[in-house]
Amino acid sequence: MIAAPATFSPLAAPRPDPAPLTFVFEGDAILVARGGLGLPDVAACDALGIDPAATVPVGLWGARYCRAAWVPRGTAPPAGHAFRRLRSLFGVADEGWLAIAGRARQLAEWDRTHRFCGACGEATRRLAAEHSRLCDACGQSAWPRVSPAMMVLVRRGDAILLARHARGTGRWSALAGFVEAGESLEDTVHREVREEVGLAVAGVRYFASQSWPFPHSLMVAFTAEHAGGELAPDGDEIAEARWFGPGDALPELAAAQSIARALIDAHLPAGAAAATP
Ligand SMILES: [Zn+2]
Repeated sequence: MIAAPATFSPLAAPRPDPAPLTFVFEGDAILVARGGLGLPDVAACDALGIDPAATVPVGLWGARYCRAAWVPRGTAPPAGHAFRRLRSLFGVADEGWLAIAGRARQLAEWDRTHRFCGACGEATRRLAAEHSRLCDACGQSAWPRVSPAMMVLVRRGDAILLARHARGTGRWSALAGFVEAGESLEDTVHREVREEVGLAVAGVRYFASQSWPFPHSLMVAFTAEHAGGELAPDGDEIAEARWFGPGDALPELAAAQSIARALIDAHLPAGAAAATP
């Protein structure tokens, strides 16, 4: 699972550093050295036209100052570098690096999408003391958005329910869905399980949570027990759903380092064999 390193502390105000770690995003792709995961140095940032004053403070990783920046869609990478989709680096980059890159991605995206006030349309400015963009014309503030979503692994005796999402990667995972306005997390669990596979559940229990920067989710994971109904995938969001019990061969599971994989791995039926490492 992705978690910030113990040596990381968040910052909202910039720190002078002649060699900062700069996380540069073009959409959901991050700029890294070609053939590796090295971040661009100051010269590479200059080559992209990144104004140091416009970068967003992210934090300190040990003694290194980390900052985020974004470039317009279609920007070509500087020599020796490439833009790689952040999601493609799960299972490749280490978890601490991914956690900080994910935080930087969300801050860069917030900065990019809140340059103008959503209420009156005037330009906003970033405050120095916190991650907030203020509209001086009408007083509206915009903070980085976090969208809660829940994930639930439904169990029936020793078996677990896995599903293949219609628009997903083809891998099998737990059920998941966004929290709607007015809902508690528990409401979302019950609603999504009912909508996606037609089951009732009980005994909802918290497992863990993980920031998921695609683009700004907080994924909160639960387990729940089957309490009624027959399995009926909706065919829209869920293409297939199946119970997997002791001794069953498992399909290709959610990506390594995801909370989905941690949730499934922690509740594998005895003797169930994973198809992928
Ligand atoms: Zn305004």
